[in-house]
Amino acid sequence: MGLLIVQKYGGSSVADPERIKNVARRVAESARLGHRMVVVVSAMGKTTDGLLALASAITQTPDPREMDVMLSTGEQVTIGLLAMALQSLGHSACSFTGPQVGLITDAAHTRARIKRITAERIHAALDAGRVAVVAGFQGTTEGGDITTLGRGGSDLTGVALAAALKADVCEIFTDVDGIYTADPNVVPDARKLPRISYDEMLEMAALGAKVLQARSVEFAKKHNVPVHVRSSFKPDPGTLVTREDYSMEDVVVTGITHDRGQAKVSILRVPDRPGIASRVFGGLGAQNIVVDMIVQNISRDGFTDISFTLPRADRTRAESVLAALAREVGAEGVTADDRVAKISIVGVGMRSHAGVAARMFATLSGEGINIQMISTSEIAVSCVIEDKYTEVAVRALHDVFELGTERGT
Ligand code: ADP
Ligand code: ASP
Ligand code: MG
Repeated sequence: MGLLIVQKYGGSSVADPERIKNVARRVAESARLGHRMVVVVSAMGKTTDGLLALASAITQTPDPREMDVMLSTGEQVTIGLLAMALQSLGHSACSFTGPQVGLITDAAHTRARIKRITAERIHAALDAGRVAVVAGFQGTTEGGDITTLGRGGSDLTGVALAAALKADVCEIFTDVDGIYTADPNVVPDARKLPRISYDEMLEMAALGAKVLQARSVEFAKKHNVPVHVRSSFKPDPGTLVTREDYSMEDVVVTGITHDRGQAKVSILRVPDRPGIASRVFGGLGAQNIVVDMIVQNISRDGFTDISFTLPRADRTRAESVLAALAREVGAEGVTADDRVAKISIVGVGMRSHAGVAARMFATLSGEGINIQMISTSEIAVSCVIEDKYTEVAVRALHDVFELGTERGT
């Protein structure tokens, strides 16, 4: 008896009809070997970006429910085309939307969380010897409203289906042939990792390595789904995202990431008394604006500045919320800066090695790069710097931590 395999193909892998035919051939190869195949696909190429641009040409404050109705159309095009391509190769295949496979989410439109997956129609299709082609990124509320799972959410669909179906493997096919020590499109000598732990991958994804959606890694870790990230254009094995093993601790820094999707916002000369931070961040939270790094300066003459980072897309909204808050609490004003990037070093070995952060700071200062904000976790250190130094910073750190050379040498 063959395996049950879930494969996910990202936007660039299905960007045009030729690539969709290429995906069909790869799926057909596995089906021919006797494996039961579930294939999750993204919208073609940059379709989702195009849909977002359409919405913003209509309104800056779209109704999230209507956003999801529109955003979910991208994936629906791909499933129909891929099912046709498989059928043209003589394979029995059937396409399904998220709602059709019973992918039930909460009602947090545009970033819904999965509650459960019934998958009845997938089971039925597999039992009938068909390839099940499933639209990524989408689900439905209990009440029948279409939802989407956040940018990069097809990864989550793939992982969650693999868990629900108890699949033998979850393969994520993309335009790079695995997880690298840094974005290979930025660092030419980045090295492919044969394996990476869930925790490191989660941190790298959360800190900007978009090769996997952070929530999909969180889900994979929780349900113990081994994820194999590989190229849809080459047959080579890729990177296995898996449970941490002992040898992984020997390496201090596993990867360098960068995130250019953030903005830095400061609220200036805020009265330094109890309750102010809670008012400011409570006000942002009430508008569903998620802040990341927070720095509060030392107070001088009873006033202080508070700076924080947030997704660039939320900047304008945050500024208007904060301008009102600044007036309320008697602060001087609000400033915002888009020209920032967050650079991070990640590695489980940091738990047991000292001096890693100091080395990172020395490297950035050696390049004449000013550090605007710093944050740390158990297995990562991040610095906010001026955007224009992103490449220089990532490459310098990649060199200093010797990531271009073989592990252990
Ligand atoms: P897909 O459309 O298949 O979902 P994505 O564009 O979401 O693909 O993710 C793949 C991209 O992730 C790569 O093209 C690469 O530029 C980027 N990336 C960032 N960091 C890394 C990393 N450490 N290893 C591999 N790819 C990375
Ligand atoms: N099409 C969606 C996006 O671009 C989901 C995905 O590709 O994973 O974010
Ligand atoms: Mg992606």
